[in-house]
Amino acid sequence: MNVNDSINLINGVGKKKEELFNKLGIYTVFDLLFYFPRAYEDWGNEYSIDSAPLNEKVCIKAYVGSTVREHFIRKGMTTYSLDITDGKSVMDIVFFNNKYAASALEMGKEYRFFGKINSFGKHLKSMNSPQFVPVSGDAGKMRPIYPQSAGLSSRQIEKVIKTAIDSLTYIPDCLPDNIRKDYCLMTGSDAFHNVHFPENEDYLIEAKRRLVFEELFLLQIGLLRLKIKAAKQTSIVIKTDCTDEFLKLLPFTLTGAQKRAINEGMKDMATGKPMNRLLQGDVGSGKTAVCAAIIYNVIKNGYQASLMAPTEVLANQHYKTFLKFFEKTDIKIALLTGSLTQKEKNAIKKDLADGKTDLIIGTHAVIQKDVVFKNLGIAVTDEQHRFGVNQRGLLTAKGNNPHVLVMSATPIPRTLSLIIYGDLDLSILDEMPAGRQKTETFLINSDIKERAYGYVKKHLCDGFQGYIVCPLIDTDEETDSEVASSVEIYNNLKDGYFRGFRLGLLHGKMSPSDKKKVMNEFSEGKTDLLISTTVIEVGVDVPNAVIMVIENAEHFGLSQLHQLRGRIGRGSTKSTCILISDNESDKTNERLKILTDTTDGFKIADEDLRLRGPGDFFGSRQHGLPNLKIAGLISDAETVRETHIAAEKLLKSNPDLSGDNYNLIKSRVNKMFSHGLILN
Ligand code: ADP
Ligand code: MG
Repeated sequence: MNVNDSINLINGVGKKKEELFNKLGIYTVFDLLFYFPRAYEDWGNEYSIDSAPLNEKVCIKAYVGSTVREHFIRKGMTTYSLDITDGKSVMDIVFFNNKYAASALEMGKEYRFFGKINSFGKHLKSMNSPQFVPVSGDAGKMRPIYPQSAGLSSRQIEKVIKTAIDSLTYIPDCLPDNIRKDYCLMTGSDAFHNVHFPENEDYLIEAKRRLVFEELFLLQIGLLRLKIKAAKQTSIVIKTDCTDEFLKLLPFTLTGAQKRAINEGMKDMATGKPMNRLLQGDVGSGKTAVCAAIIYNVIKNGYQASLMAPTEVLANQHYKTFLKFFEKTDIKIALLTGSLTQKEKNAIKKDLADGKTDLIIGTHAVIQKDVVFKNLGIAVTDEQHRFGVNQRGLLTAKGNNPHVLVMSATPIPRTLSLIIYGDLDLSILDEMPAGRQKTETFLINSDIKERAYGYVKKHLCDGFQGYIVCPLIDTDEETDSEVASSVEIYNNLKDGYFRGFRLGLLHGKMSPSDKKKVMNEFSEGKTDLLISTTVIEVGVDVPNAVIMVIENAEHFGLSQLHQLRGRIGRGSTKSTCILISDNESDKTNERLKILTDTTDGFKIADEDLRLRGPGDFFGSRQHGLPNLKIAGLISDAETVRETHIAAEKLLKSNPDLSGDNYNLIKSRVNKMFSHGLILN
């Protein structure tokens, strides 16, 4: 049997089982090898009845010493028990409602039993519903436990994998021998054998180490290849530096960090190679002005620019900001979003293709196939963490190797950024614009909510604006009525506590044009208080808004709360954020307290990552990376670094991975990045 064979060629896999495996994404023997156990039962470590620890799952080798005793306990509950003995002591084994299992055991025959040991009183031990196998030649080993899924038990999966592995003549190894030797790694074949059916615990550890290495190595190869691809030549060379001209258009002076970032970008763009840069800066650090300076330069050098934002609200806002920045110039800006009519879209696209438009701002709409540029010079993506690596690739594919700038407010630990942004150079805005005051944050419970609202009212009376953020859009009967919804709060406050003030309502289910209208009114100061869901989470910039109340704060992640809070404290007035939570769990309170103690996005992200793990931190799809099957980005940070070095070394000596030895690496990487990135 061959690894590329379909699983239906495995003995014992019929049509029905095949379908069940297919549901798990398993089609070939190779896919099956990657269905890793989630845990192991250690059948190799045999205990005597006397020495077996209580309340642990262990293996005991013993003879069956009695016939089955049947006890009727109550309706629907009958137990079947037997004595077993290891020659020295006796214990009970008990099956519940499972006559079949109990009667499969033969009196006088020796078995290995595996299960949790309980005790009645001092001496009498028992094991409930143990698993068992006859002691024939086969020595006890570690047995895999697979993630069960609809219709396939762990044991069934084990059997199929065992049959497959036993009948494979050869498992190809994707790691080159020299790398395997340099890092003292097992062969692929040994690793697959031992990850499924470990010889012992040491072998298992080594098998996992090898497979984690392999997975991260392939990931690094994929990412580095992207970088190499991006590093080819471009004819777009930005020779003339017009930054000083742009600075005159700005109503403020740039911070040192902003100037540095612009310089770094300008240097990149003058080299003849495409820029590939990540601009990372906490909320409010002024990323927009940096990208505006860079875009200005690109346009003044005769090229077009695009700016992509993750939401319509944000795209609209950028549009307005840039109209203002470039008011006194002849730069032509257009806004392309999903909510335009087909006719409007067509007109915008035509102007873009004709080169009449210099800057296009929009949502995903700008990466659609039919959006064509006359001469795209730079593609900017805002709040990159919301898009995947692949979408970035799509943008780069437009035009003739344009420069790429991505911006993100999510500070992430270095090892993670090595992976997620491994193909990008980094500029950091580590300085806030002058005159910013730290936002003060309070955590209260709803008993004193009125006081919090009173504080909001006081600010509104002084001519400032504010936000009330709710976890839910609307209340319906099925959901927990204790959790605040924007519609309900809006209705209550409009004619209640905030009667006489101008209230706005904003949530994700509203039509794009309604959202736009509400947002415009708020940013123009026509509404005082905006009741909103997390749709304002990214990028919204209304400096006159200085107070925010977040209802049921325990429903949000730390980084999300930090982003939300970033909507205030954007002007020179001291801002206040009030988190309301009645949650009584210490853990939740500890989590929320972090926000009252610090405004440092890095610290908050670290905590968030520590508390939730990377999966939740990024949301499963947000980072756009392939799903890792065995490696953990946090737990295997050291291997991330090792594989980065190993992959760099290999690509340096053989950038195209030419030669048959590398075919397997190439096909594995292509499969890993199969949602859009192809190596050729
Ligand atoms: P973010 O990095 O979160 O995207 P923005 O670019 O939206 O931040 O900037 C936040 C606010 O700070 C905006 O109102 C912007 O006009 C203002 N701003 C940016 N840079 C400066 C500066 N150097 N001095 C004063 N205000 C600035
Ligand atoms: Mg921003």
